[in-house]
Amino acid sequence: MYEFEARIGDSLVQMADSDALPLSGEVALVTGASRGIGRAIALELASHGADIGVNYTASSSAAEDVAEQIRGLGRQAVVVQADISDGDAVSAMTKAVTGKLGTPTILINNAGITRDMLAMRMKSADWEAVVGTNLTGSFLTTQSVLRGMLRARRGRIITIGSVIGTVGNAGQANYAAAKAGLAGMTRSLAHELGSRGITVNLVAPGFIQTDITADLSDEVIGNVMQRIPLDRLGDPADVAPLVAFLAGPGGAYITGQIIHVDGGMVMG
Ligand code: NAP
Repeated sequence: MYEFEARIGDSLVQMADSDALPLSGEVALVTGASRGIGRAIALELASHGADIGVNYTASSSAAEDVAEQIRGLGRQAVVVQADISDGDAVSAMTKAVTGKLGTPTILINNAGITRDMLAMRMKSADWEAVVGTNLTGSFLTTQSVLRGMLRARRGRIITIGSVIGTVGNAGQANYAAAKAGLAGMTRSLAHELGSRGITVNLVAPGFIQTDITADLSDEVIGNVMQRIPLDRLGDPADVAPLVAFLAGPGGAYITGQIIHVDGGMVMG
């Protein structure tokens, strides 16, 4: 059951609707929704009632599978291929989602990649790929949905950062720079958009078990484990509920925040 307030005449009345869900009627665009954390977020938002634009860049059958699961939850889904580092592709993606589902009022900037190498040996192409996707791609996607959110006078922009953007990591200068940049982007946008009814927050996961972390050696994982007070690696299902909370009624007065979901790896 979902409780809400409705205005009847001059009074606000507490109502309950057993069918309405907190995100009913909202359209969410989730970048990188074919796998890992983005997939879990897309399904979580759909289970809270949102219709979902499922973006991917290469894994078309995985993206179709996510869309099928969303439809199975009784929500609408549209699958859109777009490389988020390409501005024209991003504009086409947002146009397609808007045309098929309506104006996205929730944006999840999730798509991201790694190209790890010690700085001395890092190729400029690997720097540019990571900054171009993780940082510029999130900015381009945000820009593409802003006009619609401004017209709707409401919106939730939630970007997936990383604890690495806060503490850094050897071999990840490109990734850490991009993720730290997203924190600055989040705070600046929160200042710009607060008066327009749009909240902007960054969720920074720690070590989450997905394809991105699947190839790490036992030695690296052992070192990471020593830094996790909750004594286990994270799962995409540990991240998705916080994102749904920020996107829903409970997140209405939260903006400009960097929230770690990391088992306690980074505190303060
Ligand atoms: P993942 O399993 O590798 O999934 C990455 C997703 O991003 C896939 O859906 C992929 O699409 C999509 N993607 C990659 N490049 C893209 C591009 N140029 N345009 C559009 N989509 C693109 O990664 P993950 O672990 O779920 O990571 C998701 C986000 O969480 C990333 O921003 C990552 O930096 C962040 N994060 C992850 C961890 C972790 O420990 N896993 C920790 C902190 C932060 P395809 O399937 O089509 O390739």
